[in-house]
Amino acid sequence: MKNFYSEFVNDELWLIRENEWAKALQNVRESQFTLGNGYMCSRGILEEVPYDSSPGTFVAGLFDKIASQVAELVNLPNPVNFKLTINGEKVGLSAMDSLEHKRVLNMKKGVLVRRTVYKDSRRHKYDYQSLRFISMANKNIGVMQMSFTPLDSGCGLDINTGIDTAVFNSGVLTEGRKKHFRLKELGQTDNAGFLVIETLEKKNPVVFWSGFYYEINGKKIYAKDNIFSLKLRKKQTVVFTKVFCIKRFPYHEDHSPCKNESFKIFNSAFRKGFPSLLKDHVRSWSRLWDKADIVVGGTASIQQNIRFNIYHMLIAAGYDYGFSSVGARTLSGEGYRGHVFWDTEIFLLPFYLLTFPQIAKNMLLYRYRRLNKARELAKSEGYKGVRFPWESAHTGDEETPEWAKDLDGSIIKIYTHKMEHHLTADIAYAVNRYYLFTSDDKFMEYCGYEILFETARFWAYRVKLNKRRNTYDITDVIGPDEFHVKVKNNAFTNFMAKWNLLTAHKFFSLLKDNPGLYKSLTKKISLNDKEASQWKKIALRISQPRHKGKVIEQFDGYFKLKEINISRTDENGIPVLSAKAKSEDFGKTQLVKQADIVMLMYVLDGWFDDSTKKDNYNFYLSRTLHKSSLSPSIYSLMACETGDLIRAYTFFNVALRTDISDLNGNTNEGIHAACLGGTWQVIVFGFAGVKAVDETMFIYPRMPFSWNSLKFSLIWRKAQIKLTLTNETIKVTVVSSLKKQVKLGVWGKIVSLKPGKEYIFDKKAALDKKKRRPQYL
Ligand code: BGC
Repeated sequence: MKNFYSEFVNDELWLIRENEWAKALQNVRESQFTLGNGYMCSRGILEEVPYDSSPGTFVAGLFDKIASQVAELVNLPNPVNFKLTINGEKVGLSAMDSLEHKRVLNMKKGVLVRRTVYKDSRRHKYDYQSLRFISMANKNIGVMQMSFTPLDSGCGLDINTGIDTAVFNSGVLTEGRKKHFRLKELGQTDNAGFLVIETLEKKNPVVFWSGFYYEINGKKIYAKDNIFSLKLRKKQTVVFTKVFCIKRFPYHEDHSPCKNESFKIFNSAFRKGFPSLLKDHVRSWSRLWDKADIVVGGTASIQQNIRFNIYHMLIAAGYDYGFSSVGARTLSGEGYRGHVFWDTEIFLLPFYLLTFPQIAKNMLLYRYRRLNKARELAKSEGYKGVRFPWESAHTGDEETPEWAKDLDGSIIKIYTHKMEHHLTADIAYAVNRYYLFTSDDKFMEYCGYEILFETARFWAYRVKLNKRRNTYDITDVIGPDEFHVKVKNNAFTNFMAKWNLLTAHKFFSLLKDNPGLYKSLTKKISLNDKEASQWKKIALRISQPRHKGKVIEQFDGYFKLKEINISRTDENGIPVLSAKAKSEDFGKTQLVKQADIVMLMYVLDGWFDDSTKKDNYNFYLSRTLHKSSLSPSIYSLMACETGDLIRAYTFFNVALRTDISDLNGNTNEGIHAACLGGTWQVIVFGFAGVKAVDETMFIYPRMPFSWNSLKFSLIWRKAQIKLTLTNETIKVTVVSSLKKQVKLGVWGKIVSLKPGKEYIFDKKAALDKKKRRPQYL
């Protein structure tokens, strides 16, 4: 029997395989095998849509809300729907026996390939193969092809395909299943079917087109309907091809223009035919990987897993000028209802910033486009400036639900939106980071300054004067460690607020060199020199946390809480508590949910010396439970920084394998965005030791011993820096259309590189022997 898609299943280092049908893993695989292109994603369901599968078709930024509930990413009608029956028996893994079943996600080419050999109740065998993709070349188009061959007898085949509207958002807790759209129109014209739906709240039309043909005996036949029958002889193969188009629109009173516009997109793709659509798609993927790939020498499974992480970042984000950003579970599942958290700016953004800066800009524009909402939020709580919502969706309103499931499954009241305010500084931090890596003055003029000033303004009002100590406190907060609620002076929050105020103050002074902008912006946001000068004064008086030696107290009173001795860890080095430990009691102890002080040392690393980092890392290491997927990568990064390289690798592996091995048991709800970005940061900022300080990017490799080499490229101030590293050598070529030399720090030694020339640096020659650390520290 011909293997139709053999060319897609041989490049092992680019493949993720499913080697058998494991019903229990079905929903996990669906998240892992998600296909997408930044505009839309489709979960990796089986085409026959088994009863307990969870189809997911999501368009970036398309949310809906029912009455006063919080907004949810809309689970749209499912175009990946192809049902067969043979002589009345349903064909599908959960309905029929299979002799063989394999699926392969080819990440290099962005395709999902399948082969299943079925055996029916009369012991006849059938070969079924499929390939599908969501086109990277044409963002509205998806394509699927299926071949079917009866192996040992003829058969009657019924085909039922079409866009399946029997989908729903799974809803959470007590809300139950929900549909977020109304059907407006459906029909058939010109060998194609269409479906128009409209979201409930904003009435956004989404138009689907789908065309279907099959090839049999060398003849191509366009299907007139979604349901039809065929008769096949023994060993006769039929190949079905379905092309679909999904496009969302802003509100339209009459949706005919939307139908016409999307038909044109659909029809031109449909006319192209499968081979040409596939070729364009693979070419687009190849261009992405040219910039984004990381090649690790010496370890195959790590290589596949790294690519799995990058693959998921590549399908998650797009260029829609801030219409959308990336949610905490990407577009691969309904976890967190598609909401955007700080995961985006702090964990994910660096990947995009250093590979596709336009996408990083898009993410920041997403916040900027919702600045007025953030102003309203701040105002409604009695502050000035902007307060970004802890969970954000389409409008920029606060979308945090009032209730959620706790770690042990119990239902608890949520306070993050009322108190986890560090997010506002995190966004300012991301703006500054964007500017540091791109020197994009236009962006700063358009929106960067405004975000920095308005966030600083928020902190200036958020702090409370402590008359007794003559300092400013920040009370009633939640830090990254969400076990401790309503605390005072969480060090992470206080330091980030201080950083935000100082940075805004610095940029305000610089703005004076640009009188035109100074005048227009200060007028626009009613800012004057007096107010801006206050920022520095307040920043310098924000409460400093207590210390025990060099260990910083996480918040006022933390040191007095009960110490719990964590004596057991699992095979991944993650603490295991006794079954008696109750999550509602964690707040009374020193147990920490996720990196908090350690996170602080990472983001503001220039503010802390080596021994402070080391002491805090060690102290909080023995108290952190890593009950958030955000934690292991940050611990890995700080382990690199403090020289704890073995643990750095252990934590890295946890972050890396979170979704490929479903370590947290909830990959079925979607891929953990923060793990994707966190893992990437460990490789680039941790193991390769990349760090930007002012005008210079430094590199200081400290890779795991099992890695022979590490190859990747970065965009640094419009130049592409191609790097091949070992722990002893740095090979670098700068690709840039600008004639300018690029300054790089290799083991702390600053060198100037000409574009187009290859340079090789050697550690021994570069490193000052007495000083084992690079100069930038
Ligand atoms: C974490 C947050 C995170 C959110 C979304 C929570 O469990 O504590 O830091 O932003 O998940 O990933």
